[in-house]
Amino acid sequence: MSKRDYYEVLGVSRTATDQELKSAYRALAQRYHPDKNQNDASAEEKFKELGEAYGVLADPDQRQRYDRFGHAGVSSGAGQTWGAPGFGGIEDILGDLFGFSDVFGGGRTGARRSAAQRGADLRYDLEITLEDAYRGMTAQLRIPRLETCETCKGNGAAPGTQPETCSNCGGSGQVRYQQGFFSVARTCQPCRGAGRVMKNPCTDCRGAGRIEREKQMEVKIPAGVETGSRLRVQGEGESGSQGGPSGDLYVVIHLAEHERFERQGSNLYASLPLTFAQAALGADVFVSTMEGEEKIKVPTGTQTGTVFRIKGKGMPVLGGRGRGDLFVSVSVVTPTSLTREQRKLLEQLAIIENKDLEDKGLVDKVRDIFG
Ligand SMILES: [Zn+2]
Ligand SMILES: [Zn+2]
Repeated sequence: MSKRDYYEVLGVSRTATDQELKSAYRALAQRYHPDKNQNDASAEEKFKELGEAYGVLADPDQRQRYDRFGHAGVSSGAGQTWGAPGFGGIEDILGDLFGFSDVFGGGRTGARRSAAQRGADLRYDLEITLEDAYRGMTAQLRIPRLETCETCKGNGAAPGTQPETCSNCGGSGQVRYQQGFFSVARTCQPCRGAGRVMKNPCTDCRGAGRIEREKQMEVKIPAGVETGSRLRVQGEGESGSQGGPSGDLYVVIHLAEHERFERQGSNLYASLPLTFAQAALGADVFVSTMEGEEKIKVPTGTQTGTVFRIKGKGMPVLGGRGRGDLFVSVSVVTPTSLTREQRKLLEQLAIIENKDLEDKGLVDKVRDIFG
């Protein structure tokens, strides 16, 4: 495979200044950064190619050799050119790109290069109806989160300015001093270990490199979710700082109460009110399901508390096949108001029942209990 011309890779002319090279590299490296192009092999290739091109052209000696001899002049290997004298290394440039919140945040110790931090995971509590959970849905979410500041592209410096290398530590973030035989490193105070200081912080993000924005997004909620289900949306949490990857978004499901159904796992529960006559004589009744109605046969002499199971009319199983069942529990409803005709019929029934009880010698017992 033939190598592309380094100037072409960066999209600059052969007479580009160092500053032009740097700007071009920044813009392109940000576009093809692996964190932003996950699972995109071509972006990763481009990103590597950019690093190699910039590594050579940013070094005056290498650039001169490249100009005279082309790729052959710098063929010692791109990886080695990155550490060439006079050039701070690829991480420094990427550090520039992805924010310096710590410069102003303070309190950090340790080397700057280990400071790339993954963005925070976010939790979003979403209440949905049982119907939504039954069918699955696409939810429109509005999520406040920290995103890379567009004004400064995340480096925290006002447009047109750059964070400057800290003069106290020369950019390493640490100062070393000799103590007897030992060389002791200590976090640089003026830059608080960041290696950079910002004379003109970006006014939009106040130098943090990240800014709170409300992000709108669609999230597919699969059928069968229940209260407590957590859906992970990769990379949709907060932006990382200093080149770190974004966190993840977790959508936590809450089911709103339903007027008819209670849910346990993939089964649904409902009550089935029957009149005394239906329960006593038996009847064909229609039971509401999530999809409409289902006819069931209530046998003669059905008691309150009797449970009928309607197979496959429960909730879909999350991520699996099949459905739960619907259980309906009979409750015989005592009428609270009667028409004249109903009253007359019930009175007749009462006389018959009373006589029945007398015949069986049960009346006194009933009086004893309630008397
Ligand atoms: Zn900014
Ligand atoms: Zn410093």
